Amino acid sequence: MKYLFGNWKMYLDYNESINLSKQLAEVNLPSKNKIVVFPSNLAFKAVQENLASTQIATGPQNVAWVPKGGYTGEVSAHMFKDLGATYALIGHSERRHVFGETDDEVRKKVEACLDAGLIPVVCIGETKEELSEGKREYRLKKQIMKVFENLDLSGKEIIVAYEPVWAIGTGTPCLPADADDIHGWVKNELKQYTNQEIPVLYGASVNAENVLSFLSLSTIDGILAGGASVKFNDWQEIVKKAEEI
Ligand code: PEP
Repeated sequence: MKYLFGNWKMYLDYNESINLSKQLAEVNLPSKNKIVVFPSNLAFKAVQENLASTQIATGPQNVAWVPKGGYTGEVSAHMFKDLGATYALIGHSERRHVFGETDDEVRKKVEACLDAGLIPVVCIGETKEELSEGKREYRLKKQIMKVFENLDLSGKEIIVAYEPVWAIGTGTPCLPADADDIHGWVKNELKQYTNQEIPVLYGASVNAENVLSFLSLSTIDGILAGGASVKFNDWQEIVKKAEEI
C-alpha cells in the first residue's frame, strides 16, 4: 500500500473543487492505495460530502492550533475533524516560506491534530540555498527534531512528507536516486524519536510520467502531488499507475 496525496492548494475555486470531487466520485476507481485530497477550506465540506461514499479521504491544508476562540481567519483541527477530515497538511513549504510559519507553530499544529484525532502530514524540506550550501541535513534535522522531540504519539499515526522546496512547482523533481538517499536518511533520523513506523512521502513535481520512479523505491511510502492533483486526467493516471506497484 502506498499513499497518494493531492494538495489542491488555492488552485481551484468553489465550483471547480465541486466539479473535480464529483468527477472523482463518479469514476470511483477501486485502489489498493490510500488516496487523500486536500481541498481549500472554502470547499472542504462540499468536497468531503461528495467523496464520502468513496475510498478517498480528505484533509485541510492547514489548521489552527487551538480548538475554538477569538482567532480571526483561522479554522481548527477539531472543526475539520467534525466535518469528516482524516488528515491535515502541516508546515507545507508555502506556509513556512510565504506566510512565515515557524517550527514552533508547526509543532503546535501537529499536537492540535493529534488531539483532535486528525493524522498530521508534516511537510519538511530544504531550500535551494540550503541545498547548495550543504545545509540540507541540518535543515531537515531541525524540522524533524522540533516536531518529534518528546512528542507523545501513543500509537497515533503521523506522516512525514519530504518536499524539497527547490523542486516544488518547477516540473523538475528531485532525482529518484537522490530522493531514495534522503528518504533513507530521514527514516533513520525518525528512529531517534520513536519506534513507530512513520511513513515518509515524496512531494515536488510528481506527475503521471515520473510517479513510478518514486513509488517503486522502498524508502518512499507514497507521494504528495500539487499541480498534477487538480487535473482530473493527470490524477487518474497517477492513481492507475500506482496500482502497478
Ligand atoms: C506541493 O506543493 O505540495 C507540491 C508537491 O507541488 P507540485 O506537485 O506542484 O510540485
